[in-house]
Amino acid sequence: MKPSDFTSAYIGGQWVSGAKTFAVTNPATGVVIAEVADLTPADVQTAIDAAEAALPGWSATTPHERGVILRRWGQLLMSHQEDLAQLMTAEQGKPLAEARGEVATGASYIDWFAEEAKRAYGDVIPSIVAGKRYLTLRQPSGVTASITPWNFPIAMLTRKAGAAIAAGCTMVAKPADETPLCALALAKLGEEAGLPPGVFNVVTTTDAAGAGKALCDSPVVRVLSFTGSTAVGKLLYRQCAGTVKKLGLELGGNAPVLVFDDADLDKAVAGVIAAKFRNAGQTCICANRVFVQTGIYDAFAAKLAEAASKLTVGPGVKAGVAIGPLINQDALEKVERLVGDAVGHGAKALTGGSAHPLGGLFYEPTVLTDVVAPMGVLKEEIFGPVAPLIRFETEAQGIAMANDSTVGLAGYVFTRDIGRTFRVVEALQCGIVAVNDGLPTVAAAPFGGVKESGLGREGGHQGLEEYLDTKYVCIGIG
Ligand code: NAP
Repeated sequence: MKPSDFTSAYIGGQWVSGAKTFAVTNPATGVVIAEVADLTPADVQTAIDAAEAALPGWSATTPHERGVILRRWGQLLMSHQEDLAQLMTAEQGKPLAEARGEVATGASYIDWFAEEAKRAYGDVIPSIVAGKRYLTLRQPSGVTASITPWNFPIAMLTRKAGAAIAAGCTMVAKPADETPLCALALAKLGEEAGLPPGVFNVVTTTDAAGAGKALCDSPVVRVLSFTGSTAVGKLLYRQCAGTVKKLGLELGGNAPVLVFDDADLDKAVAGVIAAKFRNAGQTCICANRVFVQTGIYDAFAAKLAEAASKLTVGPGVKAGVAIGPLINQDALEKVERLVGDAVGHGAKALTGGSAHPLGGLFYEPTVLTDVVAPMGVLKEEIFGPVAPLIRFETEAQGIAMANDSTVGLAGYVFTRDIGRTFRVVEALQCGIVAVNDGLPTVAAAPFGGVKESGLGREGGHQGLEEYLDTKYVCIGIG
């Protein structure tokens, strides 16, 4: 699998070239690695038509039949793990070890839903009227659409497509234009696994707004599942009102970490390194605001800075690299702006604090101390390898500071006090809370946020629900 193998979009089981193409660039080198079909909204409509044509056949298969194909798809991902990881690092930049991990996570979602669809039980409801019986059926919602970001080009897509296809739905997938190659590779492996034409379609385009509008406006598309920024999520929410679509929105986070005086210092440092610096800080559940209780603040800051300074920055293909490039120039400028603003307001960089000497899109792993309001790092998703440390005194104050955000995706707590664990877990306004751990994402558990972080859940048995409708049946038997 080479980048140049994936130049066409995939619609109705056909590899389709567009009237135009767009360039996909390696963020570590700036080199163009592929030219991919740049589809129009009319092409997106063709993909919707293909997904609609495939729906009756696919939704009539049993979950067992779907499971066989899906498991094969997941296994093919794993047998191509190295190829896919190389492809991902080439277009996205993350270190190869992380890319291999993402391929495995991506496969695990497909595998999970291949099994989970067999348990999409309906109910038999005890009758309250003589001569009537009540039951519910769980049925596929129909044609679905996904719009996914560049930061996890495989896992963000398989946790939607795996669930939708397992439920008996068909899908039109629009990947980010920075990372279309992994999505196309998924389509190729899906074809090999035996997914019938039209069940999984991939539309590649630089006209995200036009493609999004076509998907939102279509009365045929019954579910839109989006992962990306809160701003675009809100736009799609409005656009879907016209056709009253079911929406899954996995939006931005501003994850708080609470490190209490009683925490295991080494575990807290290791947890924050994992939660902050993975994917160069470009994950929606990345630690964004690290609140540290006064008694442990200085020791924690020193240890975290020491650990962060040891993270090797460089191209993801190089052995030993822990932090790859940021995705593009805008991302680099955002990180530079936020760090500049924090330092301008009195924050200190214990390590890092500027673009990496390698140049290009590389940024130094950074630990900032003395971070206080109104620094922008407390309000905006940093999406870069920067850990801002904020001091707090009491549990109540820490919780209040952590909840001072319009979004609520993940939160992290480091403490050895069991009572405090429950108090803080229950008080945090987040959809996901990790306690003494920095990597909570797993296919078997529901992933999603509260407040402006979104709607719905992905993974777990909840992830399948997003693609199923409940039909209530009342039967007169008298
Ligand atoms: P983004 O700009 O919102 O892009 C995400 C996707 O939306 C891309 O496919 C993009 O296409 C598309 N898009 C952009 N404008 C659109 C429009 N007007 N209509 C329809 N689609 C449109 O987000 P991003 O900056 O790439 O990704 C990072 C964001 O995603 C962060 O906020 C992060 O927290 C969030 N995220 C959330 C989760 C979660 O599970 N909650 C997971 C990962 C990331 P193009 O790229 O082709 O423009």
